[in-house]
Amino acid sequence: MFTIARWFNGFQAPVVLMIDDLSDAYVDVYPESHKNDWGYMCDLEGSSYSYLKSGLLDLFPHIKMTFFVPYLRHNVINENSKYSFAKYDLGERDEYKDFLSLLDGQGHEIAHHGSDHGEYIDDTMPTTINNWTHEWALFKDVETGVQTTLRGVEKFKEVCDIDVSGGKYCGYISIENSQEIIDRCDLLYWCERPNLDFDDYSEASFGSNEVISFPTTVAGNAFVRLSYLTGNPRKDKKKQFLKYLQPLYDVLSYLRIYKHYKNSHIISIQEHYSPSTTSGLVQSANIVSDIKSLNKTFSFLQHLSIWYATCDEIATYIYVREHSKLTLVGDELHIDFDCGRTLKDPVITIANDEPFRLEDDDHTYVSVENNDSHVVDLPIKSGDNLFFIK
Ligand SMILES: [Zn+2]
Repeated sequence: MFTIARWFNGFQAPVVLMIDDLSDAYVDVYPESHKNDWGYMCDLEGSSYSYLKSGLLDLFPHIKMTFFVPYLRHNVINENSKYSFAKYDLGERDEYKDFLSLLDGQGHEIAHHGSDHGEYIDDTMPTTINNWTHEWALFKDVETGVQTTLRGVEKFKEVCDIDVSGGKYCGYISIENSQEIIDRCDLLYWCERPNLDFDDYSEASFGSNEVISFPTTVAGNAFVRLSYLTGNPRKDKKKQFLKYLQPLYDVLSYLRIYKHYKNSHIISIQEHYSPSTTSGLVQSANIVSDIKSLNKTFSFLQHLSIWYATCDEIATYIYVREHSKLTLVGDELHIDFDCGRTLKDPVITIANDEPFRLEDDDHTYVSVENNDSHVVDLPIKSGDNLFFIK
């Protein structure tokens, strides 16, 4: 029986590594530069990126990453801190602009993460605990939010020639007007909240433009959470004991990831770029502290039927899948694609129990076997797409 595959090429589940707060900044807390780098060092030796590359990407080269990038100076880097720092707007330094273009060119994604991320309630206090308001909770009216968000879309285009198609609320914090702001900006997808509980999983959309609410399902620190140190003496004292429970927590983490996989859920792994903060505490879930955890996660996934993709690629497939209808008339296979958006090269995957061949005026598509099914990936356009079954 011919069906529209749930995921591209018939894979069981997509995986994306989501990294927040890549910024043109550096906070000098640790002796090792890769721990201080927020993106300022780009891909130079000693950068956070070079650490990630040698510690993870070289071992698992299929990994696709979506970076959530603020376009102004990151405000959580407190200018009254005792630590020295550097921070710049997007567009101030060519090296950083070229770094974002390099990541984009490698097939990773640059996504929206607000302008400056928010503001301190009292910026003379270094802590963000009860002393910080995230950006989308600050917009007094929809119009201001729309203008600030659209300015980001324009800025990535102007500076890097990158088309931003989605993003994430800073700190996953929103208020009642936030969805309207995102909907008015006509973005394809938005990460609204963490969905770390299995039962909280959803691929629903919101607003008149049907923005896909992109789920966040796996914590990047799942396999080190009880053992890594935070810089907070009280918490770290507790971890002396908690660390012995980490192996048990690992088992639960494997089971949680596998359950998402079996249910064909998006496996979206949540991380931050840098451990260093101007409060001196370690940023929870960051690619440096969690390198072992990420290795465990991707070692586990590499034996499974996984589509490595960015948030944009996954959201595009969801949009195409949810707006396509398949009908068979004799030897004709019709896909009616009701497309209300501009999409880059939309593709739909058709699956069948038996091998098959499809033809249109220009091409022949021969099925391949994947994940116990036979599949073809078909480029489609808005309206009726006709293929002949051979
Ligand atoms: Zn953030």
